[in-house]
Amino acid sequence: MRTGQTHLFIPGPTNIPESVRQAMNVPMQDMRAPDFGALTLGLFDGLRRVMRSASAEVFLFPGSGTGAWEAAITNTLNPGDKVLMSRHGQFSTLWVEMAERLGLDVEVIDVPWGQGVPVAEFERRLGEDREDAIKAVFVTHNETATGVTSDVAGVRRALDETFHDALLFVDGVSSIASIDFRMDEWGVDLAVTGSQKGLMCPAGLGILAVSEKAMDASTRSTMRRAYFEFSDMRKMNADGYFPYTPPTQILHGLAKSLARIEAEGLDAVIARHHRLAEGVRRGVSAWGLDLVAAEPALYSDTVSAIRVPEAVDAREVIRIAYEEYNTSFGTGLAQLAGKVFRIGHLGDLNEGMCLSALGIAEMALARSGVRLQLGSGVAAAQAFYAFGTEARERIA
Ligand code: PLP
Repeated sequence: MRTGQTHLFIPGPTNIPESVRQAMNVPMQDMRAPDFGALTLGLFDGLRRVMRSASAEVFLFPGSGTGAWEAAITNTLNPGDKVLMSRHGQFSTLWVEMAERLGLDVEVIDVPWGQGVPVAEFERRLGEDREDAIKAVFVTHNETATGVTSDVAGVRRALDETFHDALLFVDGVSSIASIDFRMDEWGVDLAVTGSQKGLMCPAGLGILAVSEKAMDASTRSTMRRAYFEFSDMRKMNADGYFPYTPPTQILHGLAKSLARIEAEGLDAVIARHHRLAEGVRRGVSAWGLDLVAAEPALYSDTVSAIRVPEAVDAREVIRIAYEEYNTSFGTGLAQLAGKVFRIGHLGDLNEGMCLSALGIAEMALARSGVRLQLGSGVAAAQAFYAFGTEARERIA
């Protein structure tokens, strides 16, 4: 029998704040009622603010982030279009696979997992593409499998410096509402996310923000689509309605979570994620373990992928944490299976929760055969949370 709280430290779905859970506890309602539209229109405005966009068209598709990827591609591109993508983790790999399945001509740049989007290489390819054959560039802003955040602003600069007209697609599934994301400033044309990570809601919504340029492309795109048709959505969304049945409970939850983000302040939300993540990273470093992310500039503030020593199977660490300590950590995906475990540190989170994650990870690591000093990771994070960058002077 399990007692006490179950701890969820996976990088999505994330912990849902109690007020968001309560906001979803409403009877079913008529999604064609005269006052229903007001709920949805407020969500569009709130999501634009979270994505830092004044004018993007926002779509909420019943689905998940993967559905939003498909909607982004099928509404704006044409069969056989050339697109530029990199593969540097499991999610960027899946995005490449989807693009290929949908009939795009994908120019893939493979990068070792742990690196980010290869901005300089993108710039070189874009510079060589004098005819503008490349119709879109895809960036996985935060590669959840490796805990790597990429430089979207750098990709925008590469496009601008090569005077390239390609659309900029960004997967912000594990960054939006947690890591700095600037749709308008970075000239992002299609931003994709889901409801279950930084937005602290259940899974169930594939969320898209679309620039005017991408909306314009959607009027000429000939890829096949039906359910995900932007123009059907746009017509109904104008008054806050949907062409099909929306998940109304999640919409109520999203209204509450957006209100929470506004009350905390988006900048403060982003700073909190950075502070909490830095404490976790200091804990990992005190254990003598490495992150998959190759260098500090790439460190993700929403998830840390932690390598275990070669003789240890990371699946055992995850199993012990789950079975013995009621705690879920993220598993290593694809080529990282057995080699890493991941601590998700995004959404509704605070210092105490991160210290729990580190304390439980220490026990599971030690029991799996990793040599470390129990308490060392927790102490390093405590020092940072208590005294910030002055921790060394204050604790000695
Ligand atoms: N992209 C990234 C970066 C993700 O982390 C995920 C899910 O974890 C996805 C895409 C897929 O999203 P979903 O599971 O909501 O379909």
